[in-house]
Amino acid sequence: MNVTVAGLGVSGISAARALAGLGARVTVVDGGAGEKQQESARELEAAGIAVRLGDGETLPEGTDLVVTSPGWKPDSPLFAAAAAAGVDVVGDVEIAWRLRGPDAADWLAVTGTNGKTTTVRMLAAILEAEGLHTTAVGNIGTPIVDVVLNQGKDGARPYDVLAVELSSYQLHWAPSLRAHSAAVLNLAPDHLDWHGSMAAYAADKGRIYEGNRVACVYNVADRATEDLVREADVEEGCRAIGFTLGTPGPSELGVVDGILVDRAFVENRQKQAQELAEVSDIAPGSGPAAPHNVANALAAAALARAYGVSPAAVRDGLRAFHPEAHRIQHIAEIDGVRYIDDSKATNTHAAEASLAAYEHIVWIAGGLAKGATFDELVKTAVARLRGVVLIGADRALIREALARHAPEVPVVDLDRTDTGAMPEAVREATRLAQPGDTVLLAPACASMDMFVNYNKRGDAFADAVRELTARDQ
Ligand code: ADP
Repeated sequence: MNVTVAGLGVSGISAARALAGLGARVTVVDGGAGEKQQESARELEAAGIAVRLGDGETLPEGTDLVVTSPGWKPDSPLFAAAAAAGVDVVGDVEIAWRLRGPDAADWLAVTGTNGKTTTVRMLAAILEAEGLHTTAVGNIGTPIVDVVLNQGKDGARPYDVLAVELSSYQLHWAPSLRAHSAAVLNLAPDHLDWHGSMAAYAADKGRIYEGNRVACVYNVADRATEDLVREADVEEGCRAIGFTLGTPGPSELGVVDGILVDRAFVENRQKQAQELAEVSDIAPGSGPAAPHNVANALAAAALARAYGVSPAAVRDGLRAFHPEAHRIQHIAEIDGVRYIDDSKATNTHAAEASLAAYEHIVWIAGGLAKGATFDELVKTAVARLRGVVLIGADRALIREALARHAPEVPVVDLDRTDTGAMPEAVREATRLAQPGDTVLLAPACASMDMFVNYNKRGDAFADAVRELTARDQ
């Protein structure tokens, strides 16, 4: 088969190698031709894989299948050319799904605008606590194609089950994926520039439920997720299971008096709610769990319970789980002011969750808005804002929303889009903060206008906070 791989990034390289290893004739195309691409090209060519740099638009002659990378928009000319030639376009998740062997692991899949990585990590920890062999894959960790192809190879213990994080891009290009069970955590406008509309974005997320065998897990507080379950075509007997921060109804998991309880998968004859864990069992070393992380824990528990995992393993897994960096990460407390890095809050929905977790906030925000508007976010946060420091390319959008809905809140617009702006932002935020306040980096925007990625943005924040500490000493 002649396969054209679009994009010379991590997933493109992994797909190219895997397909070449299976005997396909692979050509990788990329519009760029920079130094990094040339280096990757040389490595692939040494492995017998053709690479075409500087043209990501025309379809190579004789292509039977196009495998795309997440960054490529659906309206890219290469895909139009493929459609015109009657050639399928698929992503790495579809390839992994099609290549899984007869002893393949089950897939428990998670998507949503926010909380995917956290939930998948929680899920993997719970499955491990049950003694199952698993790993977190997909939009996270080892490329999924590699995991599937290496299943049980070289005497390795095969995975029983995979905790799979799926982005809306991956779902868009994975038409035949059929998970054991899946969860959509929430739905808010994000990546609309890629998908074209909210309806298209929601439809791509909703694909995760297609063909589910045991459970479709949805967020009771987010009607749109329940609607997607209703629209999905699932296997007979597959159940809709809700999760809620309140008291659960039948077929739901929820919270009663600080305890996570399950009313959906009850084994006792009285059909009483099954206690799973206390809220304080969630990553006990990291301070009180923010409400959105309780929701993530419930979603992970629902998928694990659908897979038959015991209540004790849910508790042990949540205790063993460690949150990842740049997600509500406590950096320091200086002169009574807390500094929190939530650089991963790259959209307004995530920033809304982290702004809701603190009382008095000096908020550092701004970056690339990706087509978002900020009025709703500012309206819900205004009572908590002590002040705001703005950085990044699209900061005017936030400044204007603040002027409309929070005219009394002091705003410092740094008018900077250079990497070096972060120390100044932290100094300005410190000036606005009072003892007991929280300085919160929750930009509500992507980072690429100023930083390589959100990790680097969070690191710059933490470094700037440490500079403050150093100066004080
Ligand atoms: P994703 O993998 O979907 O980007 P993460 O688990 O990495 O999600 O969390 C990203 C950010 O989203 C966090 O820093 C936090 O601000 C926010 N967040 C996490 N879980 C939720 C949730 N359930 N609802 C709203 N916001 C959330």
